[in-house]
Amino acid sequence: TASQEAEKRGWHLYLVGGAVRDLLLADATSGTLMIKDIDLVVDGFHKSADVGAGVELAKALQQLYPAARLEIHGAFQTAALLWHKDPELDSLWVDIATARTEFYPYPAANPEVEASSIRQDLYRRDFSINALALRLTTPRAGELLDFFGGLLDLQAKKIRVLHPNSFIEDPTRIYRGVRFAVRFGFQIEPQTEEFIRYAINSGVYDRTAQENSKTPALQTRLKTELKHILEAPYWKSALQLLDNLGALQCIHPTLNLDAELLRQLRLLERCLRRFDAEQTLIHWEMRLEALIAHLAPQYRAKVAKNLQLQEDTIKRLQNLASAQTEVMESLPKCQSPSQVVQLLRQYDLPMLILIALQSPRSLRHQIWEYLTVLANVQPLLNGNDLKKLGYTPGPQYRQILDHVVAATLDGVIKDRAEAEGFLA
Ligand code: ATP
Repeated sequence: TASQEAEKRGWHLYLVGGAVRDLLLADATSGTLMIKDIDLVVDGFHKSADVGAGVELAKALQQLYPAARLEIHGAFQTAALLWHKDPELDSLWVDIATARTEFYPYPAANPEVEASSIRQDLYRRDFSINALALRLTTPRAGELLDFFGGLLDLQAKKIRVLHPNSFIEDPTRIYRGVRFAVRFGFQIEPQTEEFIRYAINSGVYDRTAQENSKTPALQTRLKTELKHILEAPYWKSALQLLDNLGALQCIHPTLNLDAELLRQLRLLERCLRRFDAEQTLIHWEMRLEALIAHLAPQYRAKVAKNLQLQEDTIKRLQNLASAQTEVMESLPKCQSPSQVVQLLRQYDLPMLILIALQSPRSLRHQIWEYLTVLANVQPLLNGNDLKKLGYTPGPQYRQILDHVVAATLDGVIKDRAEAEGFLA
């Protein structure tokens, strides 16, 4: 239907980006394919196919498919149609953009214009394997447009950038390249690797890591890429490759994936399995916090702020050093389980995990003991019991029950009867 609507208006319509890549990959491996994001580009023969063509097409489609939600965004006037098939299932996104012809004012109605504008649109993309287009409109529907050798690179399993300045223009492409390489088991082609190293050596990370106020969009993209990487099953290999390329410097110039950080990341996975089986924490964010926590204390909050992490994450990373000192000094001095609880309950689970990652084994085990056993000890009595015992209801109930918990923790009382006796 989309191509019919485009044809009616004399436009060409192309499927571009990841969907074409994944279609060809699935074909090569005879694997199954589940496409959730469809990127379409409209390209016109005439000047009338102006920057609004994508939006016009999306509106026309929405009329035909009222179940789809229409979203129009951005300075480039791209539109998206969103189908929520079923709340339980994934949804389908169809992005419709207009080929970016506006910078290339060729004469209208020239067949080369059409080819040039889709070519230009593809040329501003990241890698050859992502710069393929499949024509959906007649004539020559089904034709693959491959201006940059993307098909050969797919077959040779190569990540190849389209032009030497690509990583200088947008350093987050380094992260994207690594992500695709690890995800598909591809190699970063040698010259592309050189361009990456050149971009990093020329200080591209200064832009990402330091000038946050001037480049918020870049930081947002970096965070998005970090999220994609850190929530994927291949996150560790991706971090290794980023580190080999020196690209962790985009997060902070001093960040290295050294043996100590690797040990902490392994430990973190064990913690998440053990203490967060119900996934109340956001695991990719915890991995990112562990990376940032590995930096010297004075850099942590700034990096978290630059990446626009949540306020409580920024605060946690800001307070980590002092919390760590407090725990290191006070935990060995605790003489009873109730004192351990009193000390550690001021910190939330993510903070305790971060502290534990950087603590010596004996302290770490005390924190584990707190998280698995001590923190779960409940008062043997409740408010009703206190009332029956003659206590006037009020805020002091909390304190009394805390008292009961402390006595339970320290083995002074073992059951309700003993608790009542204790209070009496
Ligand atoms: P995935 O399957 O991971 O979503 P994708 O290729 O669809 O992969 P998107 O991030 O959805 O990735 O991007 C869609 C397309 O937009 C890419 O295939 C690429 O052509 C282009 N693109 C995205 N980000 C960039 C970028 N930073 N620089 C250049 N082109 C980009």
